[in-house]
Amino acid sequence: MGKTVDKAVVLLSGGLDSATTLAMARAAGYACHAISFDYGQRHRCELEAAARVAAQLGAASHRVVSLGLGDLGGSALTDPAIDVPHAPTSGIPVTYVPARNTVFLAVALGCAEVLEAAHLFVGVNAVDYSGYPDCRPAFITAFEALANVATRAGVEGRPFRVHAPLIELTKAEIIRQGHALGVDYGLTVSCYDPDPEGRACGQCDSCRLRAAGFRAAGVADPTIYQ
Ligand code: ZN
Repeated sequence: MGKTVDKAVVLLSGGLDSATTLAMARAAGYACHAISFDYGQRHRCELEAAARVAAQLGAASHRVVSLGLGDLGGSALTDPAIDVPHAPTSGIPVTYVPARNTVFLAVALGCAEVLEAAHLFVGVNAVDYSGYPDCRPAFITAFEALANVATRAGVEGRPFRVHAPLIELTKAEIIRQGHALGVDYGLTVSCYDPDPEGRACGQCDSCRLRAAGFRAAGVADPTIYQ
């Protein structure tokens, strides 16, 4: 067919899920342009993790975009006055960042339009997750529809596809797939409340899901705990 390599923009947080998503997109043959966000998160060491992961997994480029979501507050991840829970809570937890994935995907969409990439990859998961509304299949479907009415590329007949390859997987399945694809999970940071050295708390929602995933997958957990 003589087709050139398809480009993709991959959201890369520095955590386990987005690293696996990048590895899957690379394995599927895409040239992957990784994008991370400095949005005022308390766990900023994840940005260093994202850079390490992008390099390890052969991203074609990696950019970090600054967004002032911390100016809005309203989340334990961006407001120092709201503590990260270290025990299970009910309902949508306070670590939910208002409209985060909508904003992130919108910026990634603009990036894709500039790069002439037709594919967006996001590592959202609706099985072993924190119950965030912007991690569900309905959100991905709606965002893809938005992308195709909102952009020049969409209107001119070059539609976007939003891929969420982890959305129906358990954490253990995600880890097994990433492990098989050579992801070095020791480079990733999942904790919502790491110490200044980047060591995980072992107690937040994200740490608990991650640790249980490694146990269920039968893969050694390389996480460094406080
Ligand atoms: Zn933690």
